[in-house]
Amino acid sequence: MSAVIKWLVRTLLVSNDICVLWGDYMERFDAVIVGGGSAGLAALHELSKLGVQAVLLESGRPIGSKNITGGILYSKNYPDAKVYNVEDIYENFLTDAPVERRIVKYYLNAVSEHKCYTIDLTEAHNYRTNFAYSVLMAKLNKWFAKMADEQASRMGGGIVDGVHVRDIIWHEDSNGNTTSIIVTDELEEFEAKAIIAADGVNSEVALIAGARGKFEPEALYQGVKCIVRLPEDIIDERFNLSNGEGAAYLFAGDISRGHNGGGFLYTNKDTLSVGLVYHLDSLIKSPVEPYELLNEFLTRPVITNYIYDEVPMPKEIDRSLPKEEQLRIRSGLSRLLKQYEELRYTCYSKSAREAALKQGLYSSEEELRSRLIEVRSKLEKEYGVSFVNNYVELEYSCKIVPDGKRAMMSKPYKRNVLFIGDAAGKGIFIGTRIEGINIGIDDAARAARAVARAKERGNFSEEYMGKYYGELINESPYTNDIKNIDFEYMKIFVRACKDIPTDPFPLFLKLAFMLIQKTAIQELATAIARMLDQRTLFRIIESNEAYVKIPMEIAEKIGREVKAYASIKPLSIDERIARLKINEDTKPHIKIIDGNSKFIKAMVHLCPTKCYIMEIVDKVNLRSSVILQHEGCIECGTCSKETEWRHTRGEKGVAYEYG
Ligand SMILES: Cc1cc2nc3c(=O)[nH]c(=O)nc-3n(C[C@H](O)[C@H](O)[C@H](O)COP(=O)(O)OP(=O)(O)OC[C@H]3O[C@@H](n4cnc5c(N)ncnc54)[C@H](O)[C@@H]3O)c2cc1C
Ligand code: SF4
Repeated sequence: MSAVIKWLVRTLLVSNDICVLWGDYMERFDAVIVGGGSAGLAALHELSKLGVQAVLLESGRPIGSKNITGGILYSKNYPDAKVYNVEDIYENFLTDAPVERRIVKYYLNAVSEHKCYTIDLTEAHNYRTNFAYSVLMAKLNKWFAKMADEQASRMGGGIVDGVHVRDIIWHEDSNGNTTSIIVTDELEEFEAKAIIAADGVNSEVALIAGARGKFEPEALYQGVKCIVRLPEDIIDERFNLSNGEGAAYLFAGDISRGHNGGGFLYTNKDTLSVGLVYHLDSLIKSPVEPYELLNEFLTRPVITNYIYDEVPMPKEIDRSLPKEEQLRIRSGLSRLLKQYEELRYTCYSKSAREAALKQGLYSSEEELRSRLIEVRSKLEKEYGVSFVNNYVELEYSCKIVPDGKRAMMSKPYKRNVLFIGDAAGKGIFIGTRIEGINIGIDDAARAARAVARAKERGNFSEEYMGKYYGELINESPYTNDIKNIDFEYMKIFVRACKDIPTDPFPLFLKLAFMLIQKTAIQELATAIARMLDQRTLFRIIESNEAYVKIPMEIAEKIGREVKAYASIKPLSIDERIARLKINEDTKPHIKIIDGNSKFIKAMVHLCPTKCYIMEIVDKVNLRSSVILQHEGCIECGTCSKETEWRHTRGEKGVAYEYG
């Protein structure tokens, strides 16, 4: 609570435009933002720049701990339209933000068993791109929050984390002006003139406001991911990179057990983000455990060859030894292992190595290396540690993602609430184009402008503020790109595929590819494609053929044989859950509506942390039903459609370190 008090005091000191909430008074703000992901934080920053006093409430603590992404953050440029990019919001982004690597290589891999064919999509990735960075959301959002909080504090606003918004009560005056009371699980109620809902794909505000229903499985993907540790120099060498540059790899084919979806591997500074994204309806049709799919993916040679590392493997401590001796060995071993890990990290990371030398911790690189060899040999000789090939998984995570073309709210406002980012169902997920973070940031800037204008006029109504926000959203080039295929992008994509055989393609696709590849008639072919209904095109792009069969055939026909350099043992789901930081909410936040529905039965397989189990409820008639155990819930939202679903109360639930 100390943060709340600090913030209230600051508010009292700075602002003279508020009524403060002791006794009968109720605190009142121009704007409240619900949710402190990348979209909400950009909204706070931008509102404050525009002179609006705003407060952001985030249920996670610290900020960033509930957010995950794949992911690559893009800055885009459109010749005829304005987009608000991350560097427009945070002026020092390019110099100061804790991003991972600048993505300069982008590949699509078609995979079948041990064969793989790689298509270079770097030109498509560069299309309308100023820059793109791999990012870890938990880390980056902390930095966004610092910038936004500093900016907001000048206006008497700020961020309060660890607060879950539970309800909103609206009052309308005779002039049609709406104000709203914000009800949280943790704070006194207070009043806001405008609300920006940035509470993510499972937006409770959307349901409270009656702005939309829950998204259907057809409009969602399930993304599951793990962070793999790998020293910076090894990443550089293995992926042929230098100078902080990075690479992105997408995968399609037989990695999915026939489901519609694919895999990704992105290089971070000294970690890799590896994961899978599937259409949720495809998973519900034939449910399979996300962690099993992830493990199968990690153990494919094409992935293992990228993620393996040399890992110390301590031998079992002899249990016949006296207890004190066992304890002495255990603590000595863990001290030495920690020392080894730190030394190895410093040794194989350019920035850490240079920092250590600068601080005078070592006189030269040689000294650092010989120290590492010394500790390693001590581990081997004194503790019987062997060094084997395996991988180091740091964090497991899962989240549903709105498929913009099906989920985007056609009217992203209701009363005095403006919806942004995932809460508004945004995201460009068309073929190999994957963008969500940049779109939420663009929404945020537009919502902030609508609120600032409403403040000037003193009119926060749906008719005035909401409609204007709707107009601003329609002006965004992303709105068009979410719904429609960008044929310029498609041309680049098809050109990149010039060497692949088209005989596995269905007739229509074969024809389209052939026509678009003929430069002379490219424009004509594109014009014909433009005339086709977008839904028909999406059905082709997102068909099982496109995700699974065609990539497999391409790999089989022209792919290279991939031999495994190493083998790894993926973590079990229990080991993964044990490594997560979960502050259990004793108050259940999810309730099953019908334990026998097909959807809920699918959750027994699809919950990424095994919260759903099938239980026999009638032994005589052998009737079973699904029950839910909240322990281990990571609020991914997969089960939200057919449950009474809420986020956990403030500070409770999962707290990701990487995101
Ligand atoms: C596996 C995966 C891969 C992806 N890859 C990419 C990629 O490569 N590039 C890209 O651009 N995008 C990618 N995305 C999408 C991108 O991550 C999201 O679009 C983006 O992070 C959403 O940001 P947001 O701020 O809208 O929502 P979120 O990050 O979900 O933030 C919502 C916040 O609201 C808080 N909250 C919710 N309810 C309440 C409440 N009632 N009270 C208080 N706080 C609340 C939550 O705790 C959360 O912090 C990917 C997503 C996934 C899952
Ligand atoms: S119980 Fe939690 S972790 Fe499991 S599917 Fe539902 S939201 Fe996701």
